Amino acid sequence: MCGIIAYLGEQPAYPRLIKGLKRLEYRGYDSAGVALVDQDIQVFKRKGKVSNLEAFTETLASQTGVGFGHTRWATHGEPNDVNAHPHLSNNARIALVHNGIIENYASLKATLEKEGFVFHSETDTEVLVNLIQAIQDANDLPLEEAVRLALRRVVGAYAIVVADKREPHVLVAARKASPLVIGIGDKEYFLASDATPIVEYTNRVIYLNDEELAVVRKNGDLEVKTLANVPLTPYVQELDMKIEMLEKGGYDYFMLKEIYEQPNTLRECMRGRLNAEEGWVRLGGMEDFASRIAHAKRFIMVACGTSWHSGLIGEYLFEDLARIPVEVEYASEFRYRNPVLTEEDVVIAISQSGETADTLAALEIAKEKGALIYGIVNVVGSSIARLTDAGSYIHAGPEIGVASTKAFTGQVTLLSLMALHLAHQRGTISEPRYRQLISELAVIPDKIKKVFEQDAKIRYIAGEIKDRSNALYLGRGYNFPVALEGALKLKEISYVHAEGYPAAEMKHGPIALIDENMPVIVIATNRSAYDKIVSNIQEVKARKGMVIAIVPEGDSVIQTLADYTIEIPETEEPLSPLISVIPLQLLSYYIAVFRGCNVDQPRNLAKSVTVE
Ligand code: GLU
Repeated sequence: MCGIIAYLGEQPAYPRLIKGLKRLEYRGYDSAGVALVDQDIQVFKRKGKVSNLEAFTETLASQTGVGFGHTRWATHGEPNDVNAHPHLSNNARIALVHNGIIENYASLKATLEKEGFVFHSETDTEVLVNLIQAIQDANDLPLEEAVRLALRRVVGAYAIVVADKREPHVLVAARKASPLVIGIGDKEYFLASDATPIVEYTNRVIYLNDEELAVVRKNGDLEVKTLANVPLTPYVQELDMKIEMLEKGGYDYFMLKEIYEQPNTLRECMRGRLNAEEGWVRLGGMEDFASRIAHAKRFIMVACGTSWHSGLIGEYLFEDLARIPVEVEYASEFRYRNPVLTEEDVVIAISQSGETADTLAALEIAKEKGALIYGIVNVVGSSIARLTDAGSYIHAGPEIGVASTKAFTGQVTLLSLMALHLAHQRGTISEPRYRQLISELAVIPDKIKKVFEQDAKIRYIAGEIKDRSNALYLGRGYNFPVALEGALKLKEISYVHAEGYPAAEMKHGPIALIDENMPVIVIATNRSAYDKIVSNIQEVKARKGMVIAIVPEGDSVIQTLADYTIEIPETEEPLSPLISVIPLQLLSYYIAVFRGCNVDQPRNLAKSVTVE
């Protein structure tokens, strides 16, 4: 996590850094800081949001055109002023910002301490900046050389930008397992964790690869090299991102905007991949490996958080429609448990950012073992997108709210397309059923729009339960993962303890929690299990629980049992998560707003989890 932004050019760096940090704030908001490089290096840093830093540096007069900033998601050391980045070397000559973790920081620190270095912060980062100084001092090296040698001694993950006041027109950057993008403007360069702070200045970017180092010079060229000092010819790409995508556009929070964007983002996800009139689905990403994918013995979905819930829905879809066994794994567990994998397996990595450290590591293992690796990601050019053999983008546009909404439905849409394509290819679906599901998928965006007509009612219900400290979410079949996702959304942004359960499992434990204080949110849209869900609702009511039921339009039975119902359009069951999750997203959104929480930047969380 954490966001890095650097500027080197003819304009004042400071306003660009602050603006850039605000764009990156979704990646971490424990503290923020900037370093301005001139004959001297000035460092300003503050605990908390970028706005704190901005207030603190309000009267800043420096017009220098070289500097960098950082917004932190703490791994080593609590969020405070001292631990905030940038960090300075002991001789105050070198400044550095870092995203990632230096895993061998303790042993490096011990060695440096023996050499007389003093550490002011608890961070792993301060060790790296002093290691660079030590190497530079010992050999009287230019910054670039010292950084390269230091990085060879580092174990862990990093994206860094470094400056040396003796070379005030130079910035050195490098990456390994944490992202870094270089923006090339007119006589100016940007270095950033993602393209969002760059897009308003230039659309020409280079994505730095692992173990590559870049040097930018004022009025000079950009150099990209490997850590072994082999010069590279970088590939300059054009960004396909519009500045409006990064603005709230009249909504109070990005999350609400992103919830409301879903009809459009799902259309974008399906564009060119589904044709309802002609009755086909195809995915460019699957074509190069069509036979290997169709004949896979097993699919393994690896993911974290909300993406893991998408993976669970993928499991239902792939097994139900394409009759292929699927396992869904938390990437963080998968990577450490010596998984059995063969060349006949296809591993699908699901990640909004495409930078999730655990998922990346899981993919490396899968690749080593010869499995085909497929990526489902949102951020174009991200590490997972580049590591995989094949993949598909969900085309949801930048997702800024930390709690994922449109990326989730984008992932589920893509998994639905994949499952349909595979089922057709493998002959496990009848032609009429295939066409029926395709036609239905095509109209899901319109059905989501209809859910928005319930906005006021959902808001009202949120007001009724906002002060409860627990909630239980129940669903069956395709909607069990939706129950998990609903509970996660509530936890993430409202800090209300919530659990998702398969409805039938309730009687094996969670039923003990039910009393008049426990709201139970039941997804009761599955026609196949309708009667069973009605029984589950009866069981809750018998114990005085409060039931909020998501029901199909026109439902009359549950209406009479539940305390509140939210009607949503009916659809084919395999596609129902795409609709049933929408009221749950809105419900947690409004509860969080009523509780006075910062919806877009919930405490302790960050958007893109680039640390393990
Ligand atoms: N490990 C560093 C720290 O705790 C960097 C964390 C980050 O990526 O923000 O300060």
